[in-house]
Amino acid sequence: MKNFAYVRATSVENAIHQASRAQNAQFIAGGTNLVDRLKVFLDDPDQVIDVSRLDLKQIESTPTGIRIGALATNTAVADHPQIRREYPLLARAILSGASQQIRNVATVGGNLLQRTRCPYYSDPVFACNKRQPGSGCPAINGVNRMHAILGASDHCVAVHPSDMGVALAALEAIVEVEGTTGRRQIPFHDFHRLPGDSPERDTNLEPGELITAVLLPSVPFAKTGVYLKLRDRASYAFALVSVAAAIEVSGERIQNVRLALGGVAHKPWRSLAAESFLKGKPATVETFQQAAEIVLQGAKPLTHNGFKVEMAKRAIKRALTISAQGGGIT
Ligand code: SF4
Repeated sequence: MKNFAYVRATSVENAIHQASRAQNAQFIAGGTNLVDRLKVFLDDPDQVIDVSRLDLKQIESTPTGIRIGALATNTAVADHPQIRREYPLLARAILSGASQQIRNVATVGGNLLQRTRCPYYSDPVFACNKRQPGSGCPAINGVNRMHAILGASDHCVAVHPSDMGVALAALEAIVEVEGTTGRRQIPFHDFHRLPGDSPERDTNLEPGELITAVLLPSVPFAKTGVYLKLRDRASYAFALVSVAAAIEVSGERIQNVRLALGGVAHKPWRSLAAESFLKGKPATVETFQQAAEIVLQGAKPLTHNGFKVEMAKRAIKRALTISAQGGGIT
């Protein structure tokens, strides 16, 4: 780990001010991902700004939904009665990730900023375009079982590791951020980036911007929402494929639907095309199968992850079926 200066922010304004003065600063809250990265020189900030004591932990009901402070812990969100009742797919997504100990300190803002667990990225022995732009991507012709099948580029085939993010994509969350130019809101769909030719950038945050909250709009049919995560072992493993789905059926026809996937792309992958196809159709397994085909239409599997295509189709079908039946534990 490289030596760095440590400062404790006293307010949001102070945190932003500190970040604007430093050349190479990073915020730290729970630290569950950043500290790991610091230890192996993946990140080498000159200054670390501790925002963990800021007043951003509240989870509040609003006229349009729920406002989750960026420093609310994963445990606090997953245990929150209104979230469990109205957005169960979010609670389940969180509970499917990491360990209880990590969830107790990891924050909502940090969850969105965690970086890929691509093994080549984490090991400085290898080249990696995300770590060092222009150096190459050994995963493309290497061991790529866990990597992307959708939205990848010739520069990077990594996947985003967050479970929470997949549920937030399906729920059309909004990320509230603050920087030197003021406060702005970023629709969740625009928060994370596809790799393109600049895989070193995971998000559309501007330098020095701090996430202050995540806003969940009211989605009444999210009560039947499902988070289905398929992985190599039952706990403490990243998704091979995951699906966040919520569906509203009336008179046997689909009125509303949300569908997002994890473990398949550089960002949580919402399929508006599949959602649009599903609306008005009968809620049958055949319809869900057709929707799954639409989601995976542009899939480009790598040498070792072709299985993800069929796995994703089956997971979509199953998640939509469970949600159409009223949801439940997955
Ligand atoms: Fe690096 Fe992305 Fe390639 Fe992994 S997939 S080695 S993160 S460029």
